[in-house]
Amino acid sequence: MKVLAVNAGSSSLKYQLIDSDTTEVLAKGLCERIGIDGHLIAKRGGDTYYHEAPMPTHKEAIEAVFASLTSPEEGVVSSLASIDACGHRVAHGGSFKSSVLVTDETMAEMESLIELAPLHNGPEVTCIKICQELMGADKPQVAAFDTSFHQTMPAEAYSYAVPAEYVKNDRIRRYGFHGTSHRFVAARAAEMMGKPLSDLKIVTCHLGNGSSVTAVDGGKSVDTSMGFTPGAGLPMGTRCGDIDPFIVTHLMNKHNLSASDANSILNKKSGVLAVSGVSSDFRDIEAEADRGNADCQLALDMFAYGVKKLIGAYAAAMGGVDAIVFTAGVGENDGRVREAACKGLEFLGVDFDSEVNAGARGKDTVISKPGSRVQVMVIPTNEELMIVNDVVAIASGKTL
Ligand code: AMP
Repeated sequence: MKVLAVNAGSSSLKYQLIDSDTTEVLAKGLCERIGIDGHLIAKRGGDTYYHEAPMPTHKEAIEAVFASLTSPEEGVVSSLASIDACGHRVAHGGSFKSSVLVTDETMAEMESLIELAPLHNGPEVTCIKICQELMGADKPQVAAFDTSFHQTMPAEAYSYAVPAEYVKNDRIRRYGFHGTSHRFVAARAAEMMGKPLSDLKIVTCHLGNGSSVTAVDGGKSVDTSMGFTPGAGLPMGTRCGDIDPFIVTHLMNKHNLSASDANSILNKKSGVLAVSGVSSDFRDIEAEADRGNADCQLALDMFAYGVKKLIGAYAAAMGGVDAIVFTAGVGENDGRVREAACKGLEFLGVDFDSEVNAGARGKDTVISKPGSRVQVMVIPTNEELMIVNDVVAIASGKTL
């Protein structure tokens, strides 16, 4: 099958066309500045094509993607009819426990979830509708949720101690995010260890611009650091992560801030950007830390300390740990963060290999020493492939 994986943001849209039989990426690309002016960067093999195209809405962006995929010069299929199905990354899946086929019923449920994640779910639902319209009703559209992997968490892990009316009426609970990535790397870790996933206790660390850590016990998420929103847990590029909630009300009262002001500060002006005073990008922060910038060093130390604390907490939650996996932009590339996060975990059975770690970048690598009781691994994530696998399973009638 040729499956298109779509990952829509508020002003961007990433896609990959994947042949599910070979897992080959036939074409991929990115639309940016949707709603502003718009351009598409399309890639096929080693070639890159750049198109300026007005994209007042996501519809024009998807039309530009389809035009590129079917163009005689840069295309990879003769017509849209050759694309068999489409999988959409959807950030918030509420109580969906797995990826689902988009039907009138599942679409209505997804629309009701927009209030929980307006910036993400709004454009994602729009994109599904546009693909239905452009590809025709006979082509399966599948929604893969960032939250669904975490639906297996027990009540003591997902509940918040707030009045029951809010829990019931406003669906307040920990949902967790990055589920597709945590699911992918946990399965890959088991493969690399040559053991059934059902026998393993794994801590997966998805560390990127947004970061979350998950406890995966026997292949199921039993706790995760993001919460009701993707702003909880670790300090991130620009998101604050866990803070005392009364800091927010205190600052709102003192500085007469609106809810939208507070949102913007906690989402866009906090995290390692705020602590370092330099950048949200770990490469910039490390470069400045090396020049002696103490604030940059503090941002790095806070982040690594946060990861280490979560590894310890989740080892306790699972009653042990067999593997620790690092993935995403920072996790896959940044040996310094990985080493700092694992330093002091010898008591858990981690025998870290600093030398191998320093050279590990962007490919499957074991970064603990042979014989280490806990295996530490770098595993590049592949959310698109996971989505495509779900599309194929659903399109062939399997229940996930
Ligand atoms: P992601 O959200 O997974 O795309 O990760 C993006 C983030 O990964 C960037 O903002 C950087 O902070 C970080 N990153 C990417 N490459 C490197 C690298 N070589 N070294 C350190 N951090 C990196």
